[in-house]
Amino acid sequence: MYQAKKMTRGSIKIYQHNEEQKRQSTLQIQLEKGLDYTELELYFQPSLSTNDQELVSIEALLRWRFNGKAMLPKQFISLMEQDGCFTQIERWVIHEACRQRKSWLQKELIEDSVTLAVNISQSFFYHPSLIKMLKNELNRFDLAPSMLELDIKEATLLLSSKRAAKIMSDLKELGVKIAIDNFGLGMSSLAILHHHPIDRIKLDKQLFHNNATESLPLIVGIIEAARSLKIDVLAEGIENQTMLEYLQEYKCDAYQGYVIAKPSRSEVFESFLKNTV
Ligand code: C2E
Repeated sequence: MYQAKKMTRGSIKIYQHNEEQKRQSTLQIQLEKGLDYTELELYFQPSLSTNDQELVSIEALLRWRFNGKAMLPKQFISLMEQDGCFTQIERWVIHEACRQRKSWLQKELIEDSVTLAVNISQSFFYHPSLIKMLKNELNRFDLAPSMLELDIKEATLLLSSKRAAKIMSDLKELGVKIAIDNFGLGMSSLAILHHHPIDRIKLDKQLFHNNATESLPLIVGIIEAARSLKIDVLAEGIENQTMLEYLQEYKCDAYQGYVIAKPSRSEVFESFLKNTV
């Protein structure tokens, strides 16, 4: 730390870059030795209805506890994908999310209508055993499929439109909820909402930078289009009351963000639930 302070701005960047490279190679070696699943953990973050502040959904977010620190997905997911172990880890995420959903149900901490959302990568979405695996986990924990929500990125659906349409209709038939994640960025298109059985869109948190001054017309347009298609809209990354008031004014259905709570470990999240029910 003392050393970094004495450096100039440019050399601090190089120092951080080297540190990052060192960390990435340590993680890579760890993955090659075989991942210890007890180091994986799900954090949970709530979403509330903008109208009455009721809990509508909980997102499960993956962490890798390494050398005592909970690492964020951006630090390890691409490494895991390169290593080829990520599909196995996504199975673990579904298993763990369903186990946790069941436990909160048994403790009567959440209503049946509250969904538990898990992120699904492109390769897992197209994996031939996705549907079977979901059925198995839902049956194992005796959960109604509508309690599970799959968060899928729009780009995933654009990769192969025919296959994507078949998988989406199989998921719909199974009864899980489907959300399109990070909506409103780059190539987002409203056409996708017509073509697929989507329950919810999640507006990307980047839209809400600087109190959404630039993106407000876009946000309002998406909310109106989604409403006409009976698709729920959830705003991600809401950090202050001003943004929440905008969302209420424009009738966005739900919101997630630090203004409610940061993602937390299951024990901490359980205290949040106990204080809200
Ligand atoms: P995402 O699905 O868009 O998840 C929301 C991210 O925004 C989370 O970052 C969350 O911690 C962060 N966030 C929530 N509220 C706020 C806020 O008010 N302000 C700010 N600045 N950030 C907020 P996280 O946990 O680092 O996850 C990043 C991404 O990693 C997720 O983005 C998702 O795409 C991916 N991811 C996380 N867990 C999994 C997983 O189990 N499987 C897969 N395939 N991807 C995952």
